[in-house]
Amino acid sequence: MIDPNCVFCRIAAGEIPAQVVADSPRVVAFHDLNPVAPVHVLIIPRDHIESLGAAGPQHVGLIGEMVTTAQELATELELDAGWRFLTNVGPDGGQSVGHLHFHLIGGRRMSWPPG
Ligand code: 5GP
Ligand code: ZN
Repeated sequence: MIDPNCVFCRIAAGEIPAQVVADSPRVVAFHDLNPVAPVHVLIIPRDHIESLGAAGPQHVGLIGEMVTTAQELATELELDAGWRFLTNVGPDGGQSVGHLHFHLIGGRRMSWPPG
């Protein structure tokens, strides 16, 4: 299902431009508009799923494809020294766009814990 009011649904549909780096029938990956590191890619499902908290057992294969997409992009984008892969869920998690997305971040040394 696509939500016509959702910015990431519209990017997946090609209605809003983005720098796409990977796409498949189920998954799209594109550069973040406001990168927090030299490499900052968002990996999303084409289907509108609110967050990882709203995903169910029927989405396990889809989530697996997003994970393998991240691995492939990390190699392609030469993140040989390491990378971070995360998703924010809800207000406390820091989620600002209500469409499931994983951040693939790299190209600099990360700190821990996150803010
Ligand atoms: P969140 O805070 O929900 O985990 O992450 C949302 C991310 O989406 C942010 O890093 C933000 O910069 C990015 N973002 C928001 N709107 C757009 C957009 O229209 N295009 C792209 N490429 N990234 C966006
Ligand atoms: Zn959406």
